Amino acid sequence: MLYYMKSFGCKVNIAEEELIMSKLLSNGFTQTSNLELAEIMIINSCAVTETAAKKVEDYIKKSKDKLPHLKIVMTGCLANDKILKSTDNIDLIVDNFSKELIVENIITYLGCNSTENIIKILDDKSIFTGIVESDESKRTRNYFKIQDGCDAKCSYCIIPTLRGKSKSLDIDISVESFTNAVKSGYKEIVLVGIHIGLYGKEHGYNFTELVKRLIKVKGDFRIRFSSLEVNEIDDELINIMRDNQDKISAHLHIPLQSGSDNILKLMNRFYLKDEYINTALKAKEKISNLTIGSDIIVGFPSETDDDFNDTVKTLSTATTDFFHIFQYSDRIGTTASNMDNKIDPTIKKIRMKILQELASKRYQYLVNKSIGKTFRVLTEKGDKGHTDNYLNIHLNNTDIKPNKFHNVIINEFKDNKLYGDIIPN
Ligand code: SF4
Repeated sequence: MLYYMKSFGCKVNIAEEELIMSKLLSNGFTQTSNLELAEIMIINSCAVTETAAKKVEDYIKKSKDKLPHLKIVMTGCLANDKILKSTDNIDLIVDNFSKELIVENIITYLGCNSTENIIKILDDKSIFTGIVESDESKRTRNYFKIQDGCDAKCSYCIIPTLRGKSKSLDIDISVESFTNAVKSGYKEIVLVGIHIGLYGKEHGYNFTELVKRLIKVKGDFRIRFSSLEVNEIDDELINIMRDNQDKISAHLHIPLQSGSDNILKLMNRFYLKDEYINTALKAKEKISNLTIGSDIIVGFPSETDDDFNDTVKTLSTATTDFFHIFQYSDRIGTTASNMDNKIDPTIKKIRMKILQELASKRYQYLVNKSIGKTFRVLTEKGDKGHTDNYLNIHLNNTDIKPNKFHNVIINEFKDNKLYGDIIPN
């Protein structure tokens, strides 16, 4: 049977998409990149913001309007009866907790043509993960899911409701799977999860202990961390990153969300703005060429101009390099959705624009600083690659083999792209 896969959202969804596709393949399904040829479409959805959920809903409606015969299967964070507005146009819903069994559910559904919409089989203690073997051309980057769920209670966030409590892959199994990924040729392994800083908590170990074991694995690879909260980046982890730059990418994604202590408190976040600034500056001082990315929410309930200015100031002082900016939206059942003093959408838009301008200034600064410098680049398909500190580089050399580390000198920024030349060995 021909299927079409469509994933939305975060890197956890990318990791899970790989696992679902590998299971589909071993059960006789064939992937097509042409939706019109597909008999079944699998939607791996996202519900982190109102906009993200709407994007999924619109995509489903558009596809079913155009192709009424197409069977649509939905999983992911939006596949949950607490938040899904309508099941129209969807033939089968497999909620996140049962994602691991999605292929079995699809086969059952196709066999009996059940009209039962929500199928729930697993409890929320299982973690859907593994390393997918793939052909060499695809074997550059692997999103390795080591954790799922979250125990934090950020007042705006619906994810703990949709993904349950934190659960982690056993440390020995994590190391073994990681070793297999390296042996099978993956050169960049991104450790992903919903909240990887909680890795191992329920087993009595932590993320740093896992990293210490992974850097001892033999082979030619680099590790990247998907996202860590500022209170999870301690001196020990920073020193490990500093001392193992050949094995760990010089890049951290540290969500700030707001640079105002008042708003951080309302958000029920677990740090103050000064802790964010101090950790970011300390990490940059110790780890050469480190870049920092961040998530920021604008227009959280009660956010005043002064609060917003604090966010701008905090991001500038912390020298944050990459910004992911979201406008606050209510998520059903969260504490923030019941708060007063919601912010006018026009003000949210203005604040978003101010941050976008700051983001492009910060990026330009990073670009100027990088020209003339040499970085280690992992090549990807199409004569490009990423530096250890996550700059996307277009290579002037032609016929580059993907999945190789090269030293590259960055020499130009043109049409919003960075260009560089491989330095011959
Ligand atoms: S840490 Fe906060 S924002 Fe992140 S998933 Fe957990 S509850 Fe949501």
